[in-house]
This record gives sequence, structure tokens and C-alpha cells, in this order.
Amino acid sequence: MRGITIPPGTPLFAEGDDADSAYLIEEGWVEIFTEQGGRRRSLALVGPGEIFGEMGVIDGSPRSASAATVDLCRLLVFTAERFHAALDRGDPFHVELLRKMVSRFRGAQSAAMEGNDHPRLESSAMGLGYAELAQERDIAEAVQSSRIEAQFQPIVELSSGRMLGYEALARWRRTDNELVAPQGFLPLAERTGLIRDIDFVMARQAMCFAGTLADRSDGPYVNINFSARHFHDPDDIGLATRLTKMLSVTRLDAHRVHIELTESLMIKDPAAAERQLKELSAHGFKIALDDFGTGYSSLSVLHRMPIDILKIDCSLVRDIANSTRARSVLRSIVGVASDLGMEVVAEGIEDEATLHALLELGCHRGQGFHFAAPLHARDILARRNAMAEQQPLNPAAEVGRAGSAPL
Ligand code: C2E
Ligand code: MG
Ligand code: MG
Repeated sequence: MRGITIPPGTPLFAEGDDADSAYLIEEGWVEIFTEQGGRRRSLALVGPGEIFGEMGVIDGSPRSASAATVDLCRLLVFTAERFHAALDRGDPFHVELLRKMVSRFRGAQSAAMEGNDHPRLESSAMGLGYAELAQERDIAEAVQSSRIEAQFQPIVELSSGRMLGYEALARWRRTDNELVAPQGFLPLAERTGLIRDIDFVMARQAMCFAGTLADRSDGPYVNINFSARHFHDPDDIGLATRLTKMLSVTRLDAHRVHIELTESLMIKDPAAAERQLKELSAHGFKIALDDFGTGYSSLSVLHRMPIDILKIDCSLVRDIANSTRARSVLRSIVGVASDLGMEVVAEGIEDEATLHALLELGCHRGQGFHFAAPLHARDILARRNAMAEQQPLNPAAEVGRAGSAPL
């Protein structure tokens, strides 16, 4: 976007030109006009605060009229690129509405010019926003028809491979049976707010799964990911209230539920985040800070918020076997966490070398493909039952070797 100052009587664009920019008038007046049979017909005089030239940018049509300054004008120029970047970030429903309104306006404008008062037929090719709207509908239907499924990835004690808990990770089973990973649907769910329903669907599945593993207070925990969206709606009845209700239905103790959140929540509105996290904490839920070590990690968040667990992001864990700098960073994080009484969980452990480096740095818990990929609850239960049958008298039946999928 840039600002320009234009003298009076300057043409800005002509009928039939490609629409490459839209303009916001800060000062001055602009005439919009057409020329029919050599006769100039004035359509509008637009002044400060008005936008012109936007329709062609929105629908990609050539200019349907010309524009020229009437007096000295100060204009803000939005290139088509800037405009589309804003549209791409927008709610697809709003974008589609905008396109429809432009198309209707154009229809009405040409009818008025032709003196045509017959009803117009309105139909158009599906706009760009449509694909996203259709996907939003599909995801909403998936939530309603139980097609959002949890997979569970074990979190283990690194020295023994003993399984401590599971992280619930969302998958979308499409009607053609294809399983879609989070990056294929969570960004849109996040933009449209559907993420909140998805998170509660996941929470219910995770708590039921934990309930099948052991009694109320004993046994492995489940980690559930929650979007920052749950914390920004003042009308929301609150995460703590909803989760506590779920606990009583699934007969689980709160300490077996870990709530995973990312720092974006705490940075956007720290005071609100602190209040709500304290409420969750007071109910007995443990709070895990996910993806620590990425983006805008801030140590100040750690002492203000009631955080019990730091989950170190794969991107840092991946480097520690080969990079002394990554090891130094991790060593410091482990030190700070231990001083503050927090647990550290390393994410994305893919090989033996990383595992050993983590143990040397004093990190004792982790998850990753080296131990097990995310699996469906039924597969985990089948494997646990098979292990229990093999070693019915061995109280350490759950103890596996690192790398041997200790489920
Ligand atoms: P996350 O919470 O950090 O979850 C860990 C991600 O790392 C998972 O990806 C997991 O499959 C992947 N992972 C596990 N072990 C390894 C490994 O050894 N190497 C590598 N490279 N990756 C590993 P996934 O399942 O694709 O989930 C991606 C992200 O989507 C999650 O990252 C989380 O931020 C988000 N997500 C998943 N389920 C939910 C949900 O129910 N609600 C919300 N709000 N977010 C979710
Ligand atoms: Mg997570
Ligand atoms: Mg993570």
C-alpha cells in the first residue's frame, strides 16, 4: 500500500483497463464516468473516506468506468496483490458474500445503463471462497457425524521406555475413508471457530480412552491439545467448567488430564490467560506448554503462569544430537524447568542418538516415532492386552525397552 498526491483533472484509469489497484480517498474528489458515443456521462463524485476501483480488483473484470481527479487528491493505493492477501486471510463466507454483492451491483448497473427493467438471471461460477466454504461444511459435518477421530501417541520415561501417558491427536476420517492429518483441516477449523467443537470431541474421546486404561485415579494420563480460541470468547462458559463435567461422566480424576496449550494464548492476553489457567489448575488439571522453543518463546511466561510441563518442540529436539548450540539451549531449558518445578517432555524423538543426548542433558520424558507413532485406541488396547497375557504375573509388564513401542 502507498500514498499518492495527484493534481486536479488527472485520469486515474479508463473504462476497459485491467483493474490492478483500488483507491481510498484521504482528501479531494474523484469523478467516475463513462463515455458513450463520445458523450461523457458522470456516474458519481466520490470524496474523502470513499473507496473506488475495488470492484474490478475483487472480481477480476476490466474497469467498467473511468476515473479522474476533480481537485488535488491524496489517495491510498491498494494493489490487487495487497487486496487479495487481505481476502485470502478473511473468513471465506465474507469473501463469497463480497463477490456476490459485487456481481449483483454490476448486474444492476448494466441494467440501469441499458434501461432494462427485466429481472436478471443471477448465476456464476463458484468463486475462490467456495472451496473453503465447502471444506468448512465438510468439517462441520465430520464433527457432527463422529468422523473426527483421536489417535494416541505414547509419552514415555526415556530411561526405561515405561509408558506414562498418551497425547491425543486429531484425525479427520473423510467419507471416502481417507484419514486427514491436522494440517489438512485444523488451520481452517481454527479460522472458522470449528476448532472449539473439535477440541471437545477430542477431550471426550481422550477421557474415555483413559478410563478404559485404568481406574479413576490411577494409570496413564492423557494430553489434550486446546486452541487459544477457547480463551478468547467472553461468552464461553469456560474450559474448566466443561472439562469438569466431562470428568464426572467419564469418572476420571483431573490429574490424569493434561491440557496442552501454546504460547500464543499467553502472549495475546496474558491477564486473561493467567486467570483461566489458574482456574484449570485449581480444578486439578495439569497444564503443559506445547511447542516450547519455537516462535516467540518468552521466559517471562514461565514464572507468571501455572505451568506444570514444558513440551520441547521437535525442531529443537531434532538438532541436539549434532549441534552443541542446540544442546546448550536444551540444557538451559531443563535447568530453568527444574528450578521452577516443571517437568520437561521432548517431542519428536526419532532415533537412538537423540534419545541418548536427551538423557545426558537431564531430560527424562519424551515422545516420538522412535518409540511409537500415534495409534488408534483399539490398537493400543489390543497391544496392552497381548502384553498383559504374555506376562500375567510380571508387575513390570508395562515396562518396555526404548525403541520397542512400550504401549
Ligand atoms: P503437537 O501437539 O506438537 O503434536 C505433536 C506432533 O508431532 C503430532 O503431529 C505428532 O504426530 C508429531 N510427531 C510425533 N512424533 C514425531 C516424530 O518423531 N517426528 C516428527 N517429525 N513428528 C512427530 P500431528 O498429529 O500432525 O499434529 C500436528 C499438530 O496439530 C499438533 O502438534 C497440535 O498442535 C495440532 N493438533 C493435533 N490435534 C489437535 C487437537 O485435537 N486440537 C488442537 N487444538 N490441536 C491439535
Ligand atoms: Mg501437543
Ligand atoms: Mg508440540
